Amino acid sequence: MNARRPLIAGNWKMNKTVPEAVALAARLAQAVGDFEQREVLVAPPFTALLEVHRALAGSRILLAAQNMHAEDAGAFTGEVSPVMLLSVGCTHAILGHSERRQLFGETDESVNRKVLQAVRKGLRPILCVGETLAEREAGRARTVVETQLKAGLNSLTREDLSRIILAYEPVWAIGTGRTATPAQAQEMHGFIRGLLSGLFDPESAGATRILYGGSVKPDNISELMAEPDIDGALVGGASLKAEDFEKIVKF
Ligand code: PEP
Repeated sequence: MNARRPLIAGNWKMNKTVPEAVALAARLAQAVGDFEQREVLVAPPFTALLEVHRALAGSRILLAAQNMHAEDAGAFTGEVSPVMLLSVGCTHAILGHSERRQLFGETDESVNRKVLQAVRKGLRPILCVGETLAEREAGRARTVVETQLKAGLNSLTREDLSRIILAYEPVWAIGTGRTATPAQAQEMHGFIRGLLSGLFDPESAGATRILYGGSVKPDNISELMAEPDIDGALVGGASLKAEDFEKIVKF
């Protein structure tokens, strides 16, 4: 039996001023704040984390950062550390998002350092992997995902893995309106679970949640979630509208 509790995570990216973020968080707290059948999480921009944390108080909705630096403190202008994120109520951190990899030069190695540090500091990483369209068309999707996954999880123990959530996000499906078909997503999720089984063990692999991300909307969430290895969704655009996100959470 699949005991993995579905997780619906909203990545707000670089959207929402503090008042806008608080208003959205307050609406979500009302709409899905006590919905026990799913785990629900939002990732506002850094500037809004503390106020969103306050707006979510008393609800079950969890808080994530969209990125973090691996060090606790120091001369790293413009960066935000794991202890800072903990101090504003974060429980999770999205790491290795394709936009970070493509636009901000993140590498498998830097992502791995962040994953390790997040786990050590008590934050749950949501480690993102996924191939570009060119890589898929070249027949390299599995190889790319395997490389990112192995590097991202390098040096982690089984116990560390139990604190990690994975997200398969094909780059060609992010923000494009072009979702992977449920069969395409399932095929990669099954592949990832097989890799985890080999890297760790079948039990750990079976307990790890693997989210799908890439143009998830109210009208495609149910068919994606019907697949056996899809354990939730990482939602970008549709997480910015309370009604859409509510529908996705309550698929
Ligand atoms: C994302 O940013 O992780 C994402 C999946 O975005 P969208 O849902 O807009 O494709």
